[in-house]
Amino acid sequence: MENNLCSTVGQTSFIRTFEMKDDFDELYGKVQKGEIDKDDALFLARHPSYLFGIADELRKAEKGDVVTYVVNRNINFTNVCVGDCKFCAFREEKEKGYLLSMDVVLSKVEEAVNNEATEICIQGGLHPDLEVADYCRIIESIKSRFDVHIHAYSPMEIYHMARNSDMSELEVLKELKNAGLGSIPGTAAEILDDSIREVICPSKIKTGEWIEIIKTAHRLGIPSTATILYGHIESLEDRIGHIFKIRAIQKETGGFTEFVPLKFMRKNNELGRMVNREISFWDSVTVHALARVILHPYCVNVQASWVKLGVMDVQQMLRFGVNDLGGTLMEESISKASGSLAGEYMSPEDFEQLITDAGRTPRRRSTLYKLL
Ligand code: SF4
Repeated sequence: MENNLCSTVGQTSFIRTFEMKDDFDELYGKVQKGEIDKDDALFLARHPSYLFGIADELRKAEKGDVVTYVVNRNINFTNVCVGDCKFCAFREEKEKGYLLSMDVVLSKVEEAVNNEATEICIQGGLHPDLEVADYCRIIESIKSRFDVHIHAYSPMEIYHMARNSDMSELEVLKELKNAGLGSIPGTAAEILDDSIREVICPSKIKTGEWIEIIKTAHRLGIPSTATILYGHIESLEDRIGHIFKIRAIQKETGGFTEFVPLKFMRKNNELGRMVNREISFWDSVTVHALARVILHPYCVNVQASWVKLGVMDVQQMLRFGVNDLGGTLMEESISKASGSLAGEYMSPEDFEQLITDAGRTPRRRSTLYKLL
């Protein structure tokens, strides 16, 4: 590992870096063995050029130049929600909201499959009238007609259907798996710290509940993604603490397919009016690079979200530890409601161009990271 990486952040940093050569060598050894602690991560975040260099090296060693994406479609089947997340511009009261009929859901799936989609991602609001049987029916109806992977229902939705159906989360997950569920999105994680959750999403599941539902899914053989919602009231230490919680789960279960940082979108929501700061490009870079370094070697896929970051920034993230760009999507109502400027669909050709222009090799993948 070269030792002059901090030269770009100023002469003082460079001299300090140079003097601390032995410290850095020791730290780099810990990173490679997956043994860094929170203080090490904080130290790296404060020496960004060094952090970025390590993140890029680890990405290269783990994934080479291949950058993956999946052809998928998002279906937000209802925006009716009893939740009160302050960052949400998507939810509606029952009287004003929508609930897609099965025919509409199936026609969206058909359109996606005709466009080579291999994954259908289903998420929605917490509709007060829906029970686990309704959620299973959506999966069964799709699976009986189409050969696609169903990536559906966040831990919050699983908690909600368990309450509405008078069942445990374990029973709910078993039912969903029997219906044909392939994997679950690790959304609703936000920041896994109850003091922050109390402010940004007071009635959402607590940290311990999110972790328990995810671990239960993993134990049942249902993999999930892992996410972080960054750029609101949380500190750098909170972000690092969150990624370490993800690492601890991954060490125990191995059930995460990838880690996806999600930038907080400020428009049209209460939290956006409370938070008086812009999220800089370098904030985003640091979160992605930290994820690569902290999660090494337990979770080797770090994804950047083009829906949240936009096409230009997402391409830049490939230089800072990212090896996956997520899905083509074909529809994404939730981010758009909060001011995302990115479009609803990026074609496989556009993905491949973006990756090739960055000097990398594009590869289409399955949800579970099998190269297709
Ligand atoms: S983020 Fe999801 S759970 Fe929270 S209010 Fe919005 S739709 Fe409901």
